[in-house]
Parts: sequence; structure tokens; C-alpha cells
Amino acid sequence: MASSQAATLLAALPEQRPVAALDAAVHGVPLGAIREAAEGCRACDLWARATQTVFGSGPVPAPLMLVGEQPGDREDLDGQPFVGPAGRILDRALDDAGIDRERAFVTNVVKHFKWRPSGKRRLHERPNREEVGACLPWVETELALVQPQALVLLGATAAQALVDPTFSVMRNRGRPLGLDLAPFVMATVHPSSILRAGERRESAYAALVADLRVAAAWLREHAA
Ligand code: SF4
Repeated sequence: MASSQAATLLAALPEQRPVAALDAAVHGVPLGAIREAAEGCRACDLWARATQTVFGSGPVPAPLMLVGEQPGDREDLDGQPFVGPAGRILDRALDDAGIDRERAFVTNVVKHFKWRPSGKRRLHERPNREEVGACLPWVETELALVQPQALVLLGATAAQALVDPTFSVMRNRGRPLGLDLAPFVMATVHPSSILRAGERRESAYAALVADLRVAAAWLREHAA
């Protein structure tokens, strides 16, 4: 059943694959086949200027799932989420919060890198509402397969995509949100914001770790 569903998913038109993926996941198609289908996604224009699709990474199922905005320059080249400068901040913050990153599934709401040229550099550009909407079924599919006990949304793009378009991270960070997405759902800042915090960098980092400790404490108490 699962393999025929996987074949159907891979045969779907590239622009229809995000929605087909969610149905396939419900019917038992494993993450590997979903990831393969995502490589050919053309549901918005972002694929055209990116190197590759950057799908989520980590154990399935996993007690913790972390969702950011989109891959950055390094992630676009490597094909893995959170391996660049923001990923290094996240690794350190998870470690300081007492969370084993190896037990977390890490992904983004948008799977292709959106950028604009600046000399020889490629500068991050925030995905717009249409791009986030087109890509959303992929992360919903990951969520359905990973079935995390705790879901941590990193930054406004992820939180507004999965919770509410008007959601304010700064007003709601670091506390359980009481949503159906997972038994524990929390939002905090995106780790890239620490890199942009200037003189406030140390306190911004400490606040990120404090938020992640809330998730760590919940996991210690509730997850096997
Ligand atoms: S950003 Fe998402 S929806 Fe757009 S082409 Fe890439 S995978 Fe598909």
C-alpha cells in the first residue's frame, strides 16, 4: 500500500506534490519517499534560483521537532537544515538547554532558499505569504510523520504559518501555546536573530536558551 502510494506521489505533477504528500503520509508513505518527491517540487517559483530542496532531518518519530523559516546560503549548498551560522547558534543553545539535538527532527516551513544578490554574496529574503502557503503541506506532512511530543517554532515565519498569521513571537515566546499541533507547542525567536542582535547578543542568546529550557523541562516530565 505504502509503496504504490509513494509511486503515485512521485508521479504527481511537480506543482501538486505538496498537497499529494500529506495524503500519502496519512496512507503510510515513509519520509524517504516524501523527501524524494519534494526534490521535484515546483509549487512556487523558489526552486528556480535555489541549489536544491532542503528537507527536514532527524529521527522519525522524534520527541522534539524544531521548525524554522527557510534554508540559508550554507543549507542551500549542503542540502541540510540548520548547518550554517544560525544552525551553530541553535546547536549551542540546545546543548545549553539540556536538549540532545540528535533526538530532534529539524526543518523549515519553506524548503528552498530565497535570496537576492549583493556583490558575490547571496542575501536572505523573507518568503512571502504565497510561497509559505505553497510550501506548508510539506511541513504538515513532516509533522504528521514525526509526531513530536514537543513542537518548537523558531521565529515569526514558522509561527505565523503554523499558528496564526497575526501571531507575535515576542508577546508569546517561551510558554506553552495549547494547540492541537502537538501535546506541547511553543514559539521562540529564530537563532539567526541572535546573530543580528549586536550589543544585545549575549542577553538575546540567554533568552533563547531560557525558552528552550521550558521545552526541555516539559520533555523531561512528559516524554519517554
Ligand atoms: S519553496 Fe516549497 S513550495 Fe516552493 S518550490 Fe520549493 S518545495 Fe515547492
